[in-house]
Amino acid sequence: MLRFASLGSGSKGNCLVAEAGATRALIDCGLKLRDTEQRLARLGLAAGDISAILVTHEHGDHAGCAFDFAAAHSVSLYLTYGTLSALKDEGKVLEGVKTVLIDSKKTLPVGDLEVQPFTVPHDAREPVQFVISDGVSKLGVLTDIGASTAHVEETLSGLDALVLECNYDADMLWGGAYPQWLKQRIAGPFGHLDNLQSERLLRALDRSRLKHIIAAHLSQQNNRPDLARAALARAMGCEESWISLATQEEGFGWRELG
Ligand SMILES: [Zn+2]
Ligand SMILES: [Zn+2]
Repeated sequence: MLRFASLGSGSKGNCLVAEAGATRALIDCGLKLRDTEQRLARLGLAAGDISAILVTHEHGDHAGCAFDFAAAHSVSLYLTYGTLSALKDEGKVLEGVKTVLIDSKKTLPVGDLEVQPFTVPHDAREPVQFVISDGVSKLGVLTDIGASTAHVEETLSGLDALVLECNYDADMLWGGAYPQWLKQRIAGPFGHLDNLQSERLLRALDRSRLKHIIAAHLSQQNNRPDLARAALARAMGCEESWISLATQEEGFGWRELG
């Protein structure tokens, strides 16, 4: 059985936990260390239960406490060369933490989990996202991507569950208070997906096995849960209530596959 839950999702920090057999991996570690430990307890886990941390890219809302958590709890960190070098340049790398470099073209075993990284266009040095499997069921995680690609759509087809970025509503972003340069960065080809882009991406996938779809990384200023839900429900041809939401404070509770 593969099960997964979120500790929180959004620009103030992202952290997801996936579990198969005896392995529990964090996917991103962008909350504060103490919040991460407390929110794991909310899911019935202790920090010592975590066996690996997979980091998608160096942005603070994804890698913020990755090295601190890894050092405090003797956990291995999995990340690309580019992400590691960016974190080194920022002085965030701690000596003594075991790091394992990810090849973005190769599936790698992480204990009882199979981890398939895939590249995405985003304004980080070597960003990846992940498909996680227990060998039977597959969970895809996709946040922090400026525009969909054929590679992404091929990789995310035929999944059992998908956590999908719905970062902003275009009207709210452009009509909102953010400075122009930031609006352009968010909406640009290396920024984030808006609700409509996520809807289109979802429509392009083979969704025949999809049992869980969760809207994630919603902007608190530039999006609303009902708009994100409505967009993904249109793509799925389902009731809006069937679409789950990963929130900044609560994330979402355990979902099981298999
Ligand atoms: Zn992010
Ligand atoms: Zn990012």
